[in-house]
Amino acid sequence: MIRAVLFDLDDTLFDHRGAVAAGITLHRRTLSGWQRFDDAAEARRWYELEERHYHRYLAGELDYQGQRRARALDFAEPYGETLEDPDAWFDGFRAHYEAAWTLLPDALTCLDALKTALPGVRFAVITNSVLDAQLLKMRRTALDERIDTLVASGELGVVKPDPAIFLEGCRRIGVSPADAVYVGDRLRTDAIGAVDAGLGGGIWLDRDNGATDEQLAAAEASGVPVIRTLDELTPLLTDAALRRPA
Ligand SMILES: [Mg+2]
Repeated sequence: MIRAVLFDLDDTLFDHRGAVAAGITLHRRTLSGWQRFDDAAEARRWYELEERHYHRYLAGELDYQGQRRARALDFAEPYGETLEDPDAWFDGFRAHYEAAWTLLPDALTCLDALKTALPGVRFAVITNSVLDAQLLKMRRTALDERIDTLVASGELGVVKPDPAIFLEGCRRIGVSPADAVYVGDRLRTDAIGAVDAGLGGGIWLDRDNGATDEQLAAAEASGVPVIRTLDELTPLLTDAALRRPA
């Protein structure tokens, strides 16, 4: 019996990647001499720097501000710029990033469909980030009105895929882990992590259909279904054939 659906936030419900691309492009436009590289390539490079340095933050190698600083300094390098104040530079990006905040187009329809198909279902968001930043995103997009609780790794001191963070999400909304499923865009961090924590299921949202054979084999070995959009979630969770015996 599914009593709760737990979600990742960035790139699962919230269009983080789109906002990052818009943010860096607009930020570069405000800077003199920063137009000489291609927008799409620079957005990709900026995103890859986030992946690298944010992972170092999650691994405890950098603090939150430190990973922002590292991203700004590395990004500036091909422009021959040594940023005197990387924090201020990052704040410039951040303002454009925040202005572009939006949910992914299938997020609200998915929550509505789940509410109808699974009466009384509870929702939580579990995110590898700092609490304040994620709360702000949820308020600005009105997601906070629909989600029962938000668990952020920054407040808890453990990051996904540590089982403790998934279990904390279940505890806060008062459901047994076996009665909860987790949906996220990262196979190991999100979906397999949730299964390993003892949740009733982990679902991998592979939005860009980029799964490798190795990933598909890992998903199958962990009993993780793969979906391409959140529109597939309600049919998946209400398909009796998918439910596991208690
Ligand atoms: Mg994500």
